[in-house]
Amino acid sequence: MSGGARADVVVVGAGPAGCVMGRRLAEAGADVLLVESGTASASPRAGLLDVGPGSQVVARHRATLGEARLDLPRGRTLGGSGAVNGGYCTPARPADLAEWGPDWPRRYAVGLARAAERLRPGLAPMGPVAAQVAAAFPGRVSAIGQARRGPRRVTAFDAWDPSGAGARVRTGATVRRLRWEGGRVAGRCDGVVLDDDEEIGAGQVVLCAGAIGTAALLTGSGIGPSTGHPVGLGVQEHPELLLDLPADVLSERDRYPGGGPAAPAGLPPLLSHVVRLQLAAEAEVEIRPYAVPLHHVIPGLEPAPRRIGVALMTPVGRGRIGDDGTVHLSEDPHDAAVLAGAAARVAERMGLDGDVTVSTSQHLSGTARVGEVLDDSGRVLGVQGLRVADASALPSLPRCGPYYTVLAVAEDLATRVIAERAW
Ligand SMILES: Cc1cc2nc3c(=O)[nH]c(=O)nc-3n(C[C@H](O)[C@H](O)[C@H](O)COP(=O)(O)OP(=O)(O)OC[C@H]3O[C@@H](n4cnc5c(N)ncnc54)[C@H](O)[C@@H]3O)c2cc1C
Repeated sequence: MSGGARADVVVVGAGPAGCVMGRRLAEAGADVLLVESGTASASPRAGLLDVGPGSQVVARHRATLGEARLDLPRGRTLGGSGAVNGGYCTPARPADLAEWGPDWPRRYAVGLARAAERLRPGLAPMGPVAAQVAAAFPGRVSAIGQARRGPRRVTAFDAWDPSGAGARVRTGATVRRLRWEGGRVAGRCDGVVLDDDEEIGAGQVVLCAGAIGTAALLTGSGIGPSTGHPVGLGVQEHPELLLDLPADVLSERDRYPGGGPAAPAGLPPLLSHVVRLQLAAEAEVEIRPYAVPLHHVIPGLEPAPRRIGVALMTPVGRGRIGDDGTVHLSEDPHDAAVLAGAAARVAERMGLDGDVTVSTSQHLSGTARVGEVLDDSGRVLGVQGLRVADASALPSLPRCGPYYTVLAVAEDLATRVIAERAW
């Protein structure tokens, strides 16, 4: 054991889960150090997804989707991916939690209520693209919550403000690996080692480095299939196809209710409404009428038409993270066929015959799942002093974006760390 810096709890990553965990543990009296790689601040401008080429607030990860090569951006800043994401906040439905275990509907509901008090998502008016989709699927459209107050994005860092409860927050500090007491891998984790070799001791380490970052830290510290932990093998995503809208369907003259070419307060939410289509008992897709062409809200993107997304919300396929860190998204043929069929149905209903682009929802999760790598309280199985509380931990993706769920689960897991006074 070396000397140097120490905290009761080191939380790795100041994304949504890390901000919740840092705040709640500090409120409970723990000396918390929240360590975040990013240095630059994300723009507070609501509606902006600063994930394009040249962004200073994302890390990029290689991914494959069949033959396609993708570049997955993840937020690298206070607020994590939640500071650069689409900001749509939808809670899971009870059926989404069925396979999580009998306690989860109650635990989730309590966690969600706590998260809702802090984030307070609001609704936005329906724009012209959503109105088109709503007209094509009468009675099926739902409004979805937005993490914004007017023109300002509300990040988890804004909403939970861990430093406001006394947590120490260090930016520009990347954890390279976990430290093991006595050098015994998978025994007791007693701290972390940073990129510059600085060591920080801790009674408890909570990984909140995101679905890719947490898996990398676990495997890079010796926790993986060889220790009986299937890390990075249960990757889940919502695959998406983007359908081009013809230029004449909507023009820049199309107006939002209340006037103006965009929503009343600056950039409109990219996604204010969705249509959920149940295809068969087990298959559901989400139709996403993106309010504006993506290059209007993602700086640096090549101009492209307005698009509607069709995403499979019930994928059966699981991807994996390769030894070199490449994320191999699932290529499950059943999922691909269901999604293609749904997209064809949407295109037919809406009279679209333009290009279709293969894409993904950026909803990566499940790389260190509860029930497989973690116990029900987020403790890494068989290991002391180490927990995971971020998107990696989700046993399965809900049929919606995971942001709100990550926050709700982090709230729940924080109450367990506190109840055990695990530091
Ligand atoms: C472009 C994009 C759009 C999205 N849109 C939506 C949406 O509209 N609705 C929705 O529900 N979901 C959306 N999501 C998904 C949602 O943002 C994520 O599910 C959520 O942010 C995951 O939170 P997290 O805490 O698990 O990890 P993250 O948000 O990824 O945060 C992890 C943090 O850990 C830090 N970190 C990583 N490694 C280390 C290390 N070794 N040392 C120190 N720090 C480290 C990172 O810099 C980052 O700040 C989107 C995601 C992206 C990328």
